[in-house]
Amino acid sequence: MQNSETCSSPHLVVIGGGSAGIGVIASIKKRVKNIAITLIEPGDQHYYQPAWTLVGAGLYDINKTRRPMADVIPPDVAWVKSAVINICPEDNFIVTAGGEKIYYDSLIVASGLVLRWDKIAGLEETLGKNGVTSNYRFDLAPYTYELVKNLTHGNAIFCQPGMPIKCAGAPQKALYLSCDHWQKQGCLKNISVGFFLAGQAVFGVPEFVPPLRNYLQKYQANVNFRHNLTRVNGEKKLATFTVTAESGDAHEVTLPFDMLHVVPPQTAPAFIAQSGLGDANGWCEVDKHTLQHVRWPNIFSLGDCCSTPNAKTAAAARKQIVVVAENLQKVLRNVIPDSRYDGYGSCPLTVEKGKVVLAEFGYDNQLLPTVPLNPARPSRIAWWLKAWFLPRFYWAGMLRGVEWFAKSKSR
Ligand code: FAD
Repeated sequence: MQNSETCSSPHLVVIGGGSAGIGVIASIKKRVKNIAITLIEPGDQHYYQPAWTLVGAGLYDINKTRRPMADVIPPDVAWVKSAVINICPEDNFIVTAGGEKIYYDSLIVASGLVLRWDKIAGLEETLGKNGVTSNYRFDLAPYTYELVKNLTHGNAIFCQPGMPIKCAGAPQKALYLSCDHWQKQGCLKNISVGFFLAGQAVFGVPEFVPPLRNYLQKYQANVNFRHNLTRVNGEKKLATFTVTAESGDAHEVTLPFDMLHVVPPQTAPAFIAQSGLGDANGWCEVDKHTLQHVRWPNIFSLGDCCSTPNAKTAAAARKQIVVVAENLQKVLRNVIPDSRYDGYGSCPLTVEKGKVVLAEFGYDNQLLPTVPLNPARPSRIAWWLKAWFLPRFYWAGMLRGVEWFAKSKSR
């Protein structure tokens, strides 16, 4: 495989062909012409995950959220269809699960995060049956809608684990759209809806809490903080939570359900920490503005796997892509990488069919609205953006190096 010593143009290795990895390759190819790029990606499908919330409500075709990986990889990129299991930053090579050793001059880590279904006892064997579902998986999002359609009375439980998770609003989006459906069918009054969160706030940015509270009230959902789902008994339809009081005392509560929407805890891929690239929690440790690794200047990271304290979203990746592309180009020219990411992330909270609270914010919860509207007000335009414009822009724009509304800042 390509070696920096045998190659005239610099060799860039990108780990992960998701939203961040494919987008950043496209943006780099627009800027840097004489570069050899190798993508390491084990999957043969690429997913547009933000639409899975809509799939779970019967409002989007699941097949439109997936395309063959080969169709989204930009031209002239070598694709190694394997997973990275180790990085050796001292000697500039990575090792794949297939045993290949691949050298690089520059490296971008964009391997996403790991959904830890295994951290909830009894969950994996019952997912997709017994009323247990999750919009966090391609194969399960359609099952969410099947359950919603068929439920006319009983207990519906929606869970949210501790942070960080990708799209922190997605657990409650599932609740809102399900309740909206039941309300329109006239059966919400017969369904007891519970929202069980490991944390202590409905949403991390205070400005968006009042409209969300209004919707939770409208749907008569019980909100339960400090409840962490630890066990599921699918056959008996029982969910067990560990409830931790402010004092630190913990006890268990077991509740019956007819429908259970689970979002699992989420961690960084293990190879990042094992390779010495992780922070204390295992996320790839980069400067939160330049996205350059804090110990290895020829390594950048973006997307869900990096250590930046922003909302882990495709919207964040859209902005990070530009910063990494610009800064990598500067490093290749021996210029100080001074393009800056402001922490932008966006969470379109689908509070009912046709209306979205578009939460856009950066570091320190600073509001960063793209359009000059009251961001805390549920809006139809924001729904149109979420359900119509953004999926189209994703495939035709973001994955092809179109950088609308993604300008970086400089020092
Ligand atoms: P991914 O897109 O997950 O890609 C990671 C890639 O890395 C994968 O292809 C994987 O196969 C590959 N990989 C993993 N391990 C390795 C390895 N060891 N070696 C090589 N490759 C590897 N975002 C929004 O902006 N708006 C929303 O409304 C929104 N809603 C969401 C709703 C749901 C239900 C979900 C699940 C997500 C949502 N998101 C939303 C979040 C968004 O999808 C992610 O933040 C985004 O996909 C992150 O991109 P990424 O490239 O970092 O990770």
